Amino acid sequence: MKNSYAVVTGASSGIGEVFAKRLAGEGYSLILTARRKDRLKQLADELEENGTKCEIITADLSVTEECYRFAEELSDKTIGVFINNAGFGDCGKFLETDVDKELKMIDVNIRAVHLLMKLILRKMEQQNGGYLLNVASSAGLIPAGPYMATYYATKNYVASLTRAVAQELKESGSSVYVGALCPGPVDTEFNDVANVKFRLDGITPEQCVEYALKQMKHKKTLIIPTFTIQAATTMGRFIPQSLYIRFAGKQQKRKLGSCADIK
Ligand code: NAP
Repeated sequence: MKNSYAVVTGASSGIGEVFAKRLAGEGYSLILTARRKDRLKQLADELEENGTKCEIITADLSVTEECYRFAEELSDKTIGVFINNAGFGDCGKFLETDVDKELKMIDVNIRAVHLLMKLILRKMEQQNGGYLLNVASSAGLIPAGPYMATYYATKNYVASLTRAVAQELKESGSSVYVGALCPGPVDTEFNDVANVKFRLDGITPEQCVEYALKQMKHKKTLIIPTFTIQAATTMGRFIPQSLYIRFAGKQQKRKLGSCADIK
């Protein structure tokens, strides 16, 4: 995959921004997308100063046509790595949360991730190789998350889809990799957008990305960065689902006090 591109969605901040920096350090040319052009431009300038070829494509991935346009712009490039990362959350009681924000969340966290995954995996099959990493969440490995219900549901979708497709690729002897990154709390702008404050200390996006890239190269399907989260998701397999959901809800509910607009 020499002379290939690394593509990062949601590269304007947080985990995506750090993926872009790390992959540039590995010698890839970069293609970055998100909505905030100024942030992408600032990052691209910084990477180019260090000798990385870098293109930016602004797109609102909640809009299906924008996803197709973005994929079309990649059609003549060889893609070595695709980080399907753009996403956001929201917190609160389901009966009270903003439905428009939730539908947008479903569009970005599910529809865009699904569509780009399909289009890019097809392209990688034709190229005969490539790595596609979906950024899910530890929330995707927990059966349900009361008080952050929609976000957990979207990430369950991503984790489930990834595991199924990874199995299909293995069975067909494909040299294309697909995996899901499932971190617990990471200190990014996620909290501001989701209107939450983590109860557990977050890891840095640098720690998260370093671990993810190592595991991706080992072709691990589910990548869970910290021992605490690995232990929590493993333990979850051995307790009744209803109890696990109640426990997850309790953890989420404790965060509610930190959400300004939750009664
Ligand atoms: P972040 O700093 O808020 O970054 C989110 C990125 O997604 C931004 O670059 C944002 O760019 C982009 N994005 C959001 N809506 C978009 C849209 N409609 N179109 C295009 N891009 C959009 O948060 P983060 O923590 O790095 O989040 C990255 C991913 O990690 C998300 O999928 C999140 O669910 C997942 N994750 C985060 C944590 C955590 O604790 N932080 C834990 C587990 C999983 P623009 O606003 O410029 O469009």
